[in-house]
Amino acid sequence: MMIAENIQRFKNKLPKHVTLVAVSKTKPVDELMQAYNAGQRIFGENKIQEMEAKWQQMPKDIQWHMIGHVQRNKVKFMAPFVSLIHAVDSFKLLKEIDKEAKKNARTIECLLQIKIAEEESKFGMEKMEAYNLLISEEVKKLTNVKIVGLMGMASFTENEEQLSEEFQKLKKIFEEFRNHPIINGESNLFKILSMGMSGDYEIAIKNGSNMVRVGSAIFGERNYQ
Ligand SMILES: *Cc1c(COP(=O)(O)O)cnc(C)c1O
Repeated sequence: MMIAENIQRFKNKLPKHVTLVAVSKTKPVDELMQAYNAGQRIFGENKIQEMEAKWQQMPKDIQWHMIGHVQRNKVKFMAPFVSLIHAVDSFKLLKEIDKEAKKNARTIECLLQIKIAEEESKFGMEKMEAYNLLISEEVKKLTNVKIVGLMGMASFTENEEQLSEEFQKLKKIFEEFRNHPIINGESNLFKILSMGMSGDYEIAIKNGSNMVRVGSAIFGERNYQ
């Protein structure tokens, strides 16, 4: 019951332009179904095989988002159904997604993960790395992937000023890329800025986020990551 109420609460309070991804990692299908029955259709998972198992069991009008780090050898398991991949951080990975998307006669939308946190993180790209990738000739040849925006994770801190600074940094990069004629050409597909989680989504939205990834504030605490 709490889950349905939480979904309702988020629907009511999020601004219209902000998309809610319900992060359901580690949670059982019956809890996801409570969110589904409350109207939620976008779910985020961070393990490909767990997402695939849930996809098999659940209604087919759900959009599945892969929000975690992606290993190239597992792309094939999600290529038939994944709707958005949030954490792309290399050309090699994009190429693999393109290959598997082709096999499934699909086009898969992706976000590039940008490093914004102060703390050392293994994942994500620097701005210039992302820029060089986005304007490269090689990327244009990947016909079955579309890069539709950026994703970032702020530092694990309660310091609101620091969180704001990190989100602003990403928003600035996003705007710069979005206004770039090669990166965001006539198709105008570069439109998603995925930032904000349970603890910091309000600050993320204030700083320009249009997609939040909320787990524990909907489903309760997780026992493990
Ligand atoms: C788990 C996770 C979230 C959701 O975290 P909560 O704090 O539970 O809202 C968001 N984004 C990513 C990348 C995650 O791995």
